[in-house]
Amino acid sequence: MRSIILLLFLSVHLVMGNSNFWAKTGHRVVGEVAQGHLNRKTKRAVSKLLNGHSLAAVSNYADAIKSDRAFKNFSAWHYVNIPSGKKYSEIEPSPNGDLVTGIQKCIEILKNESSTEEDKVFYLKMLIHLIGDLHQPLHAGRKEDKGGNDIQLQWFGKGSNLHRVWDSHMIDDYGMSYSELSRELPSLGKEQIRDIKKGTILDWVAESQELADEIYNSVEKGEKLRYSYSYKYWDMVEKQLQKGGLRLARVLNDIFS
Ligand SMILES: [Zn+2]
Repeated sequence: MRSIILLLFLSVHLVMGNSNFWAKTGHRVVGEVAQGHLNRKTKRAVSKLLNGHSLAAVSNYADAIKSDRAFKNFSAWHYVNIPSGKKYSEIEPSPNGDLVTGIQKCIEILKNESSTEEDKVFYLKMLIHLIGDLHQPLHAGRKEDKGGNDIQLQWFGKGSNLHRVWDSHMIDDYGMSYSELSRELPSLGKEQIRDIKKGTILDWVAESQELADEIYNSVEKGEKLRYSYSYKYWDMVEKQLQKGGLRLARVLNDIFS
């Protein structure tokens, strides 16, 4: 009996572990795009802190530590909830912290010359992930539905929710590895790249918030989504991954050079 229970536990764990694994592709693409836009000085500093690992390789660290209670204070850093029609600067910041205060804290620690090496490594990994989260628009969604997590719908006949469609279903079903996907992103001119890198963290939050509104309007509760949804929104997914990567590079270049 015991072994049957253990077997059941293991198989549930495997299935869940698998779905988590796939959800990681988006963050890796953001890391990979950023890697190609670091200047030489930043590349050297970042590589030293990451012990030679790439940005893509460490981009999911912040999700991996979520299951460890020792890091529970960081779980609110992955999102920010702003009521529709309001700006971040007009709301009372959450006492638990949020995506904006999280990113600011990472930048502050990394810029501070008296920070320990250990802290710099930790907050660098957090920053790489959080800039990715910032570009999944539903991480700047509404509080009442937990950024779309409570909007149940079907994805190719299986129960899911709006947040998950944007976190992972569309990217996973596209069927490319993170390195293939990074290579396949539309090529941009110098001016377009410059435009994307412009702005502040709060500008980028406002942009995600606006896109989140569009995404909320794109579905009805319980809707059965299929290819036509991916087809319609794939451009936005690609653009967000690309913007996330370019802006992560800009933030890191600002810090390290
Ligand atoms: Zn996250």
